[in-house]
Amino acid sequence: MRELSSRRRFLRKVAFAGGGALLGTVGLNQISPRIWREPLEFEPNRSYWARSQPPQNPPLTEDIAVDVAVLGGGFTGLSAAYYIRSISPHKRVVVLEAKGCGNGASGRNGAMVLTMTADRYMHFSSAPAIDKKIYDLTAGNIRELSKLSFATGIDCELEANGALQVLVTSEDVRAAKAYVQEARSLGMPVEFWDKQRLVSAIGTEVYAGAFFDPNGGHIHPMKLVHVFKAAAENAGAEIYENTTVASIEEGREHLLHTTSGCTIRAKSLVLATNAFTSRLGFFRNSFVAVHEFVAVTQPFSERQLAEIGWHKRVPFNDSRTEVFYLGLTQDNRIHIGGGSPSYFFNSGVGEVSDAASHFSQLQRELVRIYPKMSGVSFELGWDGVVDWSIDESPSVGCTGKHKNIFYGLGYSGHGVNLTSIFGRIIADLEAGREEPWKQYPFLNASLEYVPNEPFRWLGAQSGLAWYRLTEP
Ligand SMILES: Cc1cc2nc3c(=O)[nH]c(=O)nc-3n(C[C@H](O)[C@H](O)[C@H](O)COP(=O)(O)OP(=O)(O)OC[C@H]3O[C@@H](n4cnc5c(N)ncnc54)[C@H](O)[C@@H]3O)c2cc1C
Repeated sequence: MRELSSRRRFLRKVAFAGGGALLGTVGLNQISPRIWREPLEFEPNRSYWARSQPPQNPPLTEDIAVDVAVLGGGFTGLSAAYYIRSISPHKRVVVLEAKGCGNGASGRNGAMVLTMTADRYMHFSSAPAIDKKIYDLTAGNIRELSKLSFATGIDCELEANGALQVLVTSEDVRAAKAYVQEARSLGMPVEFWDKQRLVSAIGTEVYAGAFFDPNGGHIHPMKLVHVFKAAAENAGAEIYENTTVASIEEGREHLLHTTSGCTIRAKSLVLATNAFTSRLGFFRNSFVAVHEFVAVTQPFSERQLAEIGWHKRVPFNDSRTEVFYLGLTQDNRIHIGGGSPSYFFNSGVGEVSDAASHFSQLQRELVRIYPKMSGVSFELGWDGVVDWSIDESPSVGCTGKHKNIFYGLGYSGHGVNLTSIFGRIIADLEAGREEPWKQYPFLNASLEYVPNEPFRWLGAQSGLAWYRLTEP
């Protein structure tokens, strides 16, 4: 039986076609990072969500000494700063963000708030009891997001009405039914929906059924960035934006150098730089930075939404490997993301040259799902970079010679909810409180090896081509 796809499982079987070639060219694999340096560039966020980006703070303009330097103003970094200050209010904590907070994946994503981790979504590991704990942890965190939103007074438009994975093939239906049966026996309140129930909820007739998780939901991701930024600042963290860290000298006290010439002396370092982490030379062989595309329509009236039959305000993603995901904004725009992603040599950035073809693919898919959408054009399209680990497992932990570098990454397109759990774990680890998290597989998990260029590019391209050919 085909294994039921997790939300965005597409790299697993890639297993890097370059692997064979690699055996004969180990030398090139080793020296290639010195030949091809990853660019330290950050494209501006042009997403629909970016319209709600919080006002930016001034950049760092002087040398400072701190207890904790957090690199990256996305969900991971801002939540880590918030939790570190909550645990240790005496510590000086700074967040350094290259652009504005939410410029990375946190302010550009598909807005689905999901339980579990990407590798365990609708898939049991060999330890189902632990999977259940992860379910409870992630479901509980969604309630925390709601509380924090209330506490900061910033409405992040969380609609915790559940989330659907819509099923494409009859094999997917069989696998989902089996999963739901086992999940329910463990006490997870998930459901299998037949086609009829699905049609009455979201209107589309193209799927064979669905997996429904009542604990999932939809959010305005940039407003969630705002929630965490406010929470971190209210807790006493300092946030400097338009401050790019160009290099890091590791030590008992780290020395961070910014592109503008400032130096930060820090006892602890938090790498919350997600798909950009390898650009600083860290975790270079742990993930692949892949571009995904999202587009949004103009708002629809309640009557128009009723006409297409999207009655239940839940987001959904399909069960394909190159997954599509859709949701509704609060003003009833439909956003759709996914399809074929792109990988650029050496994790390159720059204007995405093939963007138009990605948006055409999204348009075709929208009309396929909702034929009444034919003639509707997108108001806006954008892309964002995902930190894909080979088997889609994330990792949070502590590294470095002096065990004073903390990190969370490998979310593999499943991080809107998980990131702030990792922020909480980072804070505990930084305070020396590892014990409560030892039971979870993502603590200090070593991620599968990803080769350097040019093997990475070869592997990613052949894997993506394979999926384009074989996708149902
Ligand atoms: C298109 C897309 C769709 C997605 N859809 C979903 C979804 O629907 N549901 C879901 O659960 N997940 C989704 N994800 C994944 C989710 O958005 C991410 O896992 C999550 O936002 C990661 O947050 P982060 O804080 O770790 O990283 P980011 O938000 O990427 O933040 C990293 C920050 O670090 C900064 N930075 C990097 N290097 C430096 C440096 N040297 N100096 C200073 N700052 C630096 C960057 O500017 C950036 O702001 C999606 C991702 C993308 C790209």
